[in-house]
Amino acid sequence: MRVRYYADAEVRNWHKQALRCLTTVHDQHDITVEIERIDEQHGQLPEFPGEVRSTTPEDVYERDLKRNQTLNKRINETPSQAYKRHGTLEIAGNVAVVADEGSVEWASTLPGYVDGYMPGVESETAMDFLEDIAADPNSRICTECCVQLDGSEQFCPGCGTDLS
Ligand SMILES: [Zn+2]
Repeated sequence: MRVRYYADAEVRNWHKQALRCLTTVHDQHDITVEIERIDEQHGQLPEFPGEVRSTTPEDVYERDLKRNQTLNKRINETPSQAYKRHGTLEIAGNVAVVADEGSVEWASTLPGYVDGYMPGVESETAMDFLEDIAADPNSRICTECCVQLDGSEQFCPGCGTDLS
């Protein structure tokens, strides 16, 4: 499993915090992290412990999100509703969980924190997800099979991995 950040988040502080969280996820939990830079807004990136690629929102949408059946089942909207609001691609600032073979298994649909939206969307926001997995990946996701967790499970309901 790896974590992919579609950079840059619009708000500079979110962007900087995302980079900090990803570095922690890599250093503390030994999870591969990477950046797809689709909207450069905040200048040069600091040193980063993963691959950084420059690409376009269109390419990312076609490759990762559009017609992605697994993603479609795991988010509340269809990918086109979630990432193509009002006909414009809005992907930057989101994060995705990518399986070893390369498919996107889950992605946030709201950049930033739940505070900026409404209560109850914690499972959809990018920054809450990043901060949660930086603290404890098992609070949100099984690193073996990418099934989503709520932190109360002792064993992964997807693959049976002991999470304790
Ligand atoms: Zn699992």
